[in-house]
Amino acid sequence: MTDDVQDSRRSFLKAGSALAAAAVAAPALAQAPAAPFLATSASDVLIPRGGQRRVVICGGGWGGLNAAKQLRLLAPDLEVVLLERNPVFFSCPMSNKWLVDVVDTSYLTHEYLAVSEKYGYRFVQTEILAVERDRKRVVTAAGHLDYDWLILSPGIRYAYEAWFGNDRRAAEATRARFPAAYVPNAEHFRLKQAIHDFQGGELVMTLPPPPQRCPPSPYERACLIAWLFKTKKIKGHITLLDHKDGIRPIGYGFRQAFEELYKDQITYVPNAQVKEVDPFNKAIRTAAGDFRFDHAILMAPHQAGDLAWKAGTIGRNPDGKPTGWSAVDPLYLHLKDDKDVYVIGDAVGFVSPQFAFYPKAGHVANRHAKIVARYIAERAAGREPKYILPDNLCYMMVTADPQLDIAVQFDYKVDDRGIIIQAQIDDNERRPELVAEDFGWARNMYQDMFG
Ligand SMILES: Cc1cc2nc3c(=O)[nH]c(=O)nc-3n(C[C@H](O)[C@H](O)[C@H](O)COP(=O)(O)OP(=O)(O)OC[C@H]3O[C@@H](n4cnc5c(N)ncnc54)[C@H](O)[C@@H]3O)c2cc1C
Repeated sequence: MTDDVQDSRRSFLKAGSALAAAAVAAPALAQAPAAPFLATSASDVLIPRGGQRRVVICGGGWGGLNAAKQLRLLAPDLEVVLLERNPVFFSCPMSNKWLVDVVDTSYLTHEYLAVSEKYGYRFVQTEILAVERDRKRVVTAAGHLDYDWLILSPGIRYAYEAWFGNDRRAAEATRARFPAAYVPNAEHFRLKQAIHDFQGGELVMTLPPPPQRCPPSPYERACLIAWLFKTKKIKGHITLLDHKDGIRPIGYGFRQAFEELYKDQITYVPNAQVKEVDPFNKAIRTAAGDFRFDHAILMAPHQAGDLAWKAGTIGRNPDGKPTGWSAVDPLYLHLKDDKDVYVIGDAVGFVSPQFAFYPKAGHVANRHAKIVARYIAERAAGREPKYILPDNLCYMMVTADPQLDIAVQFDYKVDDRGIIIQAQIDDNERRPELVAEDFGWARNMYQDMFG
């Protein structure tokens, strides 16, 4: 482990424990309590009801955090409670740049409590255990609380069972030794350490089948790790095992980067659907051949986060099997069978026969948050909302010296048949102006959440 990685991890954990101590951000206490506060349990009331109607938001990532602030701005009469397991916000967007030290840890991490106090919502750091929709109640490790409206923004889970069936030992070994680092947690620190300690050899990355979180980001990650290997003169080689038959989106831009910048560092393998993974012997069997590795970034298929399953929001295919994603009304984002429960961000399921799923991107989660906050504010005021559609914009860095990005934009409209239509524009020409836009984009996004 390099010193700066160790330091980053230490400060992340230190910040975490400091904030954990302040777990429930409540209004200032006037005086010391008469009796000691003893540990709460799931059966206690977490926050008693006041006179206000209440919105509970599950998940304080890119969707949930935005929704909390927007709701307070649009509907100040509502009580807003944000529940999140992590003590500190960690951004997955921009984290590929952090992996190779283009930005530092403080650029990705943010405090929850200051912003919750500024906008007047409650932040509670706790594990959400269950959602009892029939009782309009959320159960957490620190107690339960009821809601008038619920917003679920649980992100994604890794469906290791698609690879390992019931073999939990293999799944846990994969998670621990070859983490995907695709959810906001300490896996990112383990990955960074592994890359910076890499002595040379074969690094394999598996790309999950669509729909997946941030489809262009694994290619960005490969480019930046290859750049690091090249710059540090590490004899490392990356094999990208893609489930798809080609690179998408911004395929041309990434292919050019692979060929022109990283010919000796990256081999791209399409149609490499994973058949078998052996984390103990560092081997993987795919439809495109067998591979051995020294280290790997093993991305199992993505699904809506566990909480979306626990809340009973997952849709069913015509054959009765779970789709893996929350079944929402495509225009209004509430559950098809429960108008008071909204799902936003990556967990959102099928929305259009033309393009199936919105890109699972922080930008879309930001837009969903604003849209759903408006819907709830309208309904709280006794009005029926009119639908609003998101957009999406994504910048990807392909080399860090000089810094050059490519980009992709998505726009949406509803056609005459009432179907949401997507238009996609790839910007394949890598150039520094897009890097400036990339950092401007991130600044605006952070401002929305923490400003
Ligand atoms: C490497 C990488 C690069 C990316 N780059 C970009 C980019 O450039 N642009 C872009 O737009 N998007 C990007 N993304 C995608 C972006 O991170 C996601 O689309 C976005 O985070 C989705 O927001 P969300 O709210 O749905 O989920 P998340 O942001 O993951 O938030 C979910 C939250 O719910 C919490 N949670 C879940 N279950 C529980 C529970 N039971 N109890 C308590 N808390 C719980 C989690 O801790 C988490 O904080 C990238 C992702 C990765 C991994």
